[in-house]
Amino acid sequence: MAPETDVFVVGGGPAGLAVGIAARQRGLRVLVADWSRPPIEKPCGEGLMPDSLGALRQLGVTIGSEHSFPFRGIRFLAPGTSVSASFPSGCGLGVRRTALHQLLVDRAAEAGVQFLWGARVNGIGPEGAMVNGRLLRSRWIVGADGQNSYVRRWADLDASGRYKRRFGFRRHYRIAPWSDCVEVYWGSGFQFYVTPVSPAEVCVVLISRNRHLRIDRAMAEFPDLQERLQRADRNGPERGAVSVSCSFKRVISGHVALIGDASGSVDAVTGEGMCLAFRQAVKLAEALAGGDLRTYAAEHRRMMRRPRFMADVMLMLDRFPALRVRAMYALRARPAFFSALLAMHVGERSPAALVMSAFPLGWKILTAGRT
Ligand SMILES: Cc1cc2nc3c(=O)[nH]c(=O)nc-3n(C[C@H](O)[C@H](O)[C@H](O)COP(=O)(O)OP(=O)(O)OC[C@H]3O[C@@H](n4cnc5c(N)ncnc54)[C@H](O)[C@@H]3O)c2cc1C
Repeated sequence: MAPETDVFVVGGGPAGLAVGIAARQRGLRVLVADWSRPPIEKPCGEGLMPDSLGALRQLGVTIGSEHSFPFRGIRFLAPGTSVSASFPSGCGLGVRRTALHQLLVDRAAEAGVQFLWGARVNGIGPEGAMVNGRLLRSRWIVGADGQNSYVRRWADLDASGRYKRRFGFRRHYRIAPWSDCVEVYWGSGFQFYVTPVSPAEVCVVLISRNRHLRIDRAMAEFPDLQERLQRADRNGPERGAVSVSCSFKRVISGHVALIGDASGSVDAVTGEGMCLAFRQAVKLAEALAGGDLRTYAAEHRRMMRRPRFMADVMLMLDRFPALRVRAMYALRARPAFFSALLAMHVGERSPAALVMSAFPLGWKILTAGRT
């Protein structure tokens, strides 16, 4: 029997929609199924780095100013000190998660993706997937079903290389953004990051290893932030999610490929999760159209290296307070290195070039003069 579709995508989050669009751009027939209905909400820092926006443009997705708020860079703050850097080119954008999801759905529909919303995928096999108890025949199956992926389990791709988790809580506040950067506040064993998402709203995320820590309690460590936000109305409840850093030995098997968080993820504080999904989507569509998933597996490995390195650096600063304090003072003394680090983070500078310029900073951290 002929397949009903070329590509069946399990999960209609950012990764599933992105690969749907990219596969349509290559002329494949695509069906995306999700058990939720759009616009799908998920606790998220809601920041898109300039490289995420570049990847979105490749998919034909543009985000207008009515849905977003720009930020020029990143500012690190710790009690008594702060340091900031601008992106080497362009700005990032803060976008409410639901607004981004709707934009992706609209673009996917325009590209000719078919949808099954409110549909539960119960299993996969050589001929296709079981959807609401019915076999849907498909040439390829893409698992875009998030960090607890069923497709990964069904395709026997669950063997993992590493697994770490932290706990994230997110709340929106009705207040005009006070900074032109995403602010990352380094507390004891946690970070806050504050992203402007509209001219009248910011998104605050707390990430920590302590599952019991909540936004209000942690904020006591940052009285200025606390005072500012105490004056603002809360826009909706505090919502939690697990931020997982994990990798899997394989992301393809036969006619199945994994993408987005289902294929491995980096800590949320990097703000790179969706960017990875968008970039993977383009490469996966290329591989699907070429009929060989191995090119995708190789690209996937390569793409994960830089964000993983950045996540490791951030988590090391989280774990070792003395190192963090020294690093903050060293970065303040050498702001050019912070700019270089940010340029690498958004893919505009190679890790090798960064390592070369890191020696003076390393020395500064070791000798740790508070200047
Ligand atoms: C606290 C926090 C803050 C973050 N902040 C940022 C940030 O600022 N910037 C950034 O880029 N990234 C951020 N991330 C990461 C980002 O949210 C994820 O990388 C992104 O959501 C991954 O998208 P996805 O499509 O792979 O998975 P998901 O968004 O989880 O989507 C998976 C979809 O699959 C569906 N599904 C699952 N199983 C089935 C099934 N059996 N049948 C049908 N449907 C199914 C679900 O309903 C869901 O819609 C953050 C993450 C956390 C936890």
